[in-house]
Amino acid sequence: MTATAFKLVENVQARRVKGNSQKRRAQILRLMEKHDSYCVYCSKEVHRGDGENHGPDVATRDHIIPRHMGGPDIEANYTLACYRCNQELSRLNL
Ligand SMILES: [Zn+2]
Repeated sequence: MTATAFKLVENVQARRVKGNSQKRRAQILRLMEKHDSYCVYCSKEVHRGDGENHGPDVATRDHIIPRHMGGPDIEANYTLACYRCNQELSRLNL
């Protein structure tokens, strides 16, 4: 692969990652709206994270049907969970 082609692939990959995180953020915002910003598991109020900050009360999307059980990566399969509950659930799913 030439250096130019390599650079091109690198750019496409970087853009794809950025696009995904923006999409995820938009989905989390919609979930927060839908659930009044409360975690569906512990009913604590959740807050929007800044992408880096993962405090226990940061809003995350949780798969209703876990991925390892064949749950699809679509919005209908997401619900709102605080970071703490999400971590706890993914630990239980192991
Ligand atoms: Zn919770």
